[in-house]
Parts: sequence; C-alpha cells; structure tokens
Amino acid sequence: MKTIIEPFKIKMVEPIRYTTRKEREEILKGAHYNLFMVKAEDILLDLLTDSGTAAMSASQWAGIMLGDESYAGSRSFFRFENQIKKITGLKHVIPTHQGRAAEHILFSLLGGKGKVIPNNTHFDTTRANVEFSGAEAVDLYIDEGRIPSVDHPFKGNMDLGKLEDLIKRVGSDRIPLAMVTITNNSGGGQPVSLANIRGMKEILSRHAIPLFIDACRFAENSYFIKLREDGYGDKSVLEIAQEIFSYADGCTMSAKKDGLANMGGFLALNDDVLAERARTHLILTEGFPTYGGLAGRDMEAIVVGLEEALDEHYLEYRLASARYLGKKLRQAGFDIFEPPGAHAIYIDAQALLPHIPPTQYPGQALVAEMYLEAGIRAVEIGSVMFGRRDQESGQEKPADLELVRLAIPRRVYTQSHVDFLAEALQNVYDRKDAIKGMKITHETQYLRHFTAKFERVE
Ligand SMILES: *Cc1c(COP(=O)(O)O)cnc(C)c1O
Repeated sequence: MKTIIEPFKIKMVEPIRYTTRKEREEILKGAHYNLFMVKAEDILLDLLTDSGTAAMSASQWAGIMLGDESYAGSRSFFRFENQIKKITGLKHVIPTHQGRAAEHILFSLLGGKGKVIPNNTHFDTTRANVEFSGAEAVDLYIDEGRIPSVDHPFKGNMDLGKLEDLIKRVGSDRIPLAMVTITNNSGGGQPVSLANIRGMKEILSRHAIPLFIDACRFAENSYFIKLREDGYGDKSVLEIAQEIFSYADGCTMSAKKDGLANMGGFLALNDDVLAERARTHLILTEGFPTYGGLAGRDMEAIVVGLEEALDEHYLEYRLASARYLGKKLRQAGFDIFEPPGAHAIYIDAQALLPHIPPTQYPGQALVAEMYLEAGIRAVEIGSVMFGRRDQESGQEKPADLELVRLAIPRRVYTQSHVDFLAEALQNVYDRKDAIKGMKITHETQYLRHFTAKFERVE
C-alpha cells in the first residue's frame, strides 16, 4: 500500500467556525495584527502551535478518570515516574506544569551572570529563561541548518567544532551545562543524529560539563534516526530513545508535544544534590514533588501519551502529514525549510517577500495575510520572535531567518484540511508582490511576540 492513513478513527468531533473576509479584516485590526491576540473561535484552521493541541485518545481519557488526586504520594505520580524512567533511565523525575517551568527551575539553579549555555538552538522560552537568570544563551547548530534550501538528514545537529571552540574560549567553569534540543524546533524542526549526541557527550565529558536534552519531540526525533541513521533501521523507536537519553545527565520536557497531552512537563536528572535543590524550588513555585504543577489526571494522560507517541504507525503517519503539506506548498511555489520535519512546515518568508526588509517583519506580514485569506493561523519565527532590540539605541538586530511556521497539531486535522489550506495559500502566493511590511507599535522586553502590537507600513 502506498497511502499512509491516519492510524485512528474519530470518536468525538469539534465544529470549526467560518468567518467572512470582512469580519477577518476587523478581527485582525482589533488584534493589532498579532495572531496570538485573535480568539480561537475566530480561526478556521489553527496551525499556531503543536503544543498542547493534540487530540487525546480514548485510553488517555480513560486515564483521566483513574487520576489519583492525593496531595502526597499519588499513585498517578508513581506511574508517571516509572514511565519516564523507562524511557530516559534518569534517576529523579520532577513534574512541572509545562516545559518552561522545568527550564525556569533548572536555570535558576545553574544559570546566572557570567555563565554561558550552549544549545543547538535555544527555543524561545529556553533562551528567555537562560537570559532572565543573567546567563548567555549561545546557538551552535551546524551551518547547513542555517540555509533553508539545503538538504541534510540531520540539520538540527550541533556543530561539534564550535562547541569545542566555545569551551576553549570561555572555559568549562563558566558552562554549567550544555543542552541539545530534539527536534530543533527553532531551527526548522530538524532532527539530531545519535552520532552527534554521542559526539557532544564525548566532548562535554572531557570537560565535566553535563548534557541536558530539551526532549519535547524525542519520539519524532527517534523515528527520524530509525529512518535515516545507519545501524538503527531494525531498532525500535523506544530503544533509540533510550540510547539518546543514555548520554544525558538530565532533560526538560514539555508533555504538550510528544507527551500527547494538553498540559504538563517535567525535569529529570541524575545528580542527587541538584535534584534536591530542584525539588525545593518546585515546592516554592509549582507544588509538592509528587504532583509539581499537575493534577493526578494530567499525569495519567501523559503516561499513556508517552506510550502512544512511540507507536511506529502513529509516527509514520505523523511524518507523512508534514511531508504531504510540504509537497503541496512546494507545488504552490513556496520555498520551504527543507527537508520537512515532523511537527511543522516552515515557509521562507524572506524568499517569498524580498521587497520587505527584516526590520519590517516579512514573516508577520505573511501570517496576517494567511489569516485574511481563509482564517488560517500560523506563527512568525523570525525577527519578531528572535530579533534583538538594543535597549539604548533602539536599533534592532534581525534574526538569522525570517520563517513562518505552520505547526501540525497531533491527530487533529485530516488530509482534506491540508488540501484546503494549500488552496488558500496558493491564493496568497499569487498576490505576494502586493503584501506590505509591518512595524511594531508596542512591545515588551521578554518574549515580545506574544503581546506585540503591529501596524501595516503604508
Ligand atoms: C514547547 C517547547 C518548550 C517549552 O515548553 P512549554 O510547555 O511550552 O512551556 C521548550 N522547548 C521546546 C523545543 C519546545 O518546543
């Protein structure tokens, strides 16, 4: 059989609401051209994020009913802890309400002024938590990963030479940990190879620097390894995941991605002293160590979700969905970040809109246009999200790339939704030369993309 089908049937449906173009014009203006400020019910196809948007399975909903809501020693916590230990082999499991809470605890303990944290690419909340602690966040992914058109099986890889150089330049005592993000969400959702993770670990061990994994999409990354890396074709995805984590001293994870849950996350680590300090911090900011920021039922949904995310029929379908959307957009004329990852397709907005300079946010302009066309919501991953404004001069340093991400919620949309999406984007493509740039009229210092206000540049 050539056709890869959704490996599930639909048990419950949720209507989506159509709007008129005139309504969308008003909605967009009212939201100051920031799609984060548009109400979800005014969206037809919501590709803003794959985070917390998964459709849960019947088994997960059944798990919800089994949640043990005891304050201390909840049965659901021990199931959660066992599941995460089975996959990661890490000794201490600390539940948090989502990924960034795990990051916040980790960098409150290990970050701080003068410290430097390397990563292939820091995700926006990771970078914000590193910088908020006073430390410096450094992105060291390979040069191929910076060029959207280049084909490479593991474009999310860390540049090991650059990692060695950084350690030489700043000294290992200033690097309390190194991270690797699998898959590399802010770098096109590209996977990282096991050879690369092993190489990283080898370098870091020599300098006694711990390796932490940002594990949000570990199952998708593991499946890419199975398909693309020599020697892994016959291994199960679980075995591959276990090998990845065997090189880690710890991890942070948002269960809203490959946990297939709508909320949740965790910090896991081997160091006993650090774990005790993390739990103390957890009690201050999240909750008692056997629930952290979660209800017992949330932990049950994650236990089942982590199992289902490692199912190879699910992963085959998941990767096929992204490939299909990528193929449709390529046919429409778009340059996309090649090759497609698993959780999203990224359009090269700068290639599409060469007449809009990075300081006028081509990605934001495209996102607004897609909403106007058909009520589609996507997100800018470019200078709005990663540009750096000098607080004194007001001058802005643009991001490396101006991308628009179409994230694919897990198990939510069908192939005809994608066909509709492609038709709408074809219309946007056909009038690309008339699309105008944007300017920011209001912003905050951290994570400005969530709340920034824009106007069209006339
Ligand atoms: C989503 C995400 C996070 C943060 O997780 P939240 O649950 O949104 O707080 C961190 N890193 C990566 C790579 C992510 O995709």
